[in-house]
Amino acid sequence: MATLHPTLVDWEPPSGPPERIEVSGEQLYGRVCVRCGSHLDGLMDCGYVYTATSSGDRLPWPVKACPHHAGQEAAA
Ligand SMILES: [Zn+2]
Repeated sequence: MATLHPTLVDWEPPSGPPERIEVSGEQLYGRVCVRCGSHLDGLMDCGYVYTATSSGDRLPWPVKACPHHAGQEAAA
């Protein structure tokens, strides 16, 4: 298992257009918010990010977001 450095990924949130973002290993594993990296309680499922393998396949990773970033549409 390779060490995970900040990685450029394609993020497909549950709503809204895909975004290209950079994530840490902890964000990739869903341990912290995919947007801000916080460890707040109540992390919620927030779509998938996709990494590219050396052979060109896309690997999906389920990611989480804190309440502030999971509800982007509802946020004022
Ligand atoms: Zn957040």
